Amino acid sequence: MAQIVLNDVTKRFGNLMAVDGLDLEVRDGEFLVLVGPSGCGKSTSLRMIAGLETVTSGDITIGDTRVNGLEPRERNIAMVFQNYALYPHMTVEENMGFGLQLSTDMPDAEIKERVEEAAEMMGITDLLDDKPKQLSGGQQQRVALGRAIVREPEAFLFDEPLSNLDAKLRTHMRTEISRIQNELEVTSIYVTHDQAEAMTMGDRIVVLNDGELQQVGPPNEVYSKPVNRFVAGFIGSPSMNFLDVEVRDVDGRPHLVSVEGADVFSYPVSAFGESLRLEAGRELELGVRPEDIRRVTDQQAGDRVQQAPVAVVEPMGSDNFLYMDVGGTEWTARVNSAFEPEEGTQFEFTFDPDVVHLFDETGETIKYQREVKVA
Ligand code: ATP
Repeated sequence: MAQIVLNDVTKRFGNLMAVDGLDLEVRDGEFLVLVGPSGCGKSTSLRMIAGLETVTSGDITIGDTRVNGLEPRERNIAMVFQNYALYPHMTVEENMGFGLQLSTDMPDAEIKERVEEAAEMMGITDLLDDKPKQLSGGQQQRVALGRAIVREPEAFLFDEPLSNLDAKLRTHMRTEISRIQNELEVTSIYVTHDQAEAMTMGDRIVVLNDGELQQVGPPNEVYSKPVNRFVAGFIGSPSMNFLDVEVRDVDGRPHLVSVEGADVFSYPVSAFGESLRLEAGRELELGVRPEDIRRVTDQQAGDRVQQAPVAVVEPMGSDNFLYMDVGGTEWTARVNSAFEPEEGTQFEFTFDPDVVHLFDETGETIKYQREVKVA
């Protein structure tokens, strides 16, 4: 086991800056997830740590060793890809033991013992004599994971390992991988474009965009305190609702008003308390998560009540998603499944000031939602 440190790591492909000055400390035994949209540089970052890609500038250390110049096999890491890369002519047992046979002079009996232990951990003991083509996708991925475990590496590097599996199996394998990583306490870096995977698996998650680090933190912190508009929109499903607003006087008091007009959206600035000072004319972007939108059933919310036409109602079983048009922007509200308004009718809603996120002209956060308390 080892900590992995990236110090100002950059990767260029010709004129393209794939990874731009990445600083990262992966703690010993930690499960760190790199997440971001396609092309943000997450695979390139992982491949540089693995030694499959050279570093344009900067340093990578694994444990106490600077590994920039080391070959992949000299780095003592195990990589798990989305295509399982199993040898078709070998049995599961041979596939799992092959790496050790090739790179060490470990006696066969010891290799066999390690393979059997890993197979038990992955629940594939019955498959040891099978060839890969006899296995389902999920089973092949288990073999690939087992093969990584057998090596007893200093770190696991996962590159979208579950994207070939169907949704149900993927959810199951997420739990399996988390369980095994917890048990083995091997430092792990996991790359995914799926924010749900990042939220459920990571001790900490690292959000990348356009080759640049956006935020690093525990999932709940990144969710409740996104540092900018990009992270706020990327983490969370359905995505956060956004609206362009401006500070304007309505009835003599400052409000956050939709740039489309006060009849579209207007929320009193005084609701946010003394600490938030917003000068008149300031342009901001407001963000509210779908689960923080409340249906108004009485007049208590007063001047915080908004109205928007419901475009679509999507029943999700436990909840309904209402899609509505707020000043030309599509908003989603997550409401109780007992509430199913007619499409086209006006939906009266509100939200508490402490759930509101506000972003400045550059997209930086100036107000977070309240801290989410973890039970
Ligand atoms: P995806 O999830 O689609 O794989 P990613 O976040 O993992 O995306 P990378 O694969 O790291 O992104 O790619 C980052 C950028 O570098 C992209 O613009 C990609 O086109 C470019 N890139 C990656 N590998 C190479 C290469 N070998 N040669 C040239 N450009 C590359």
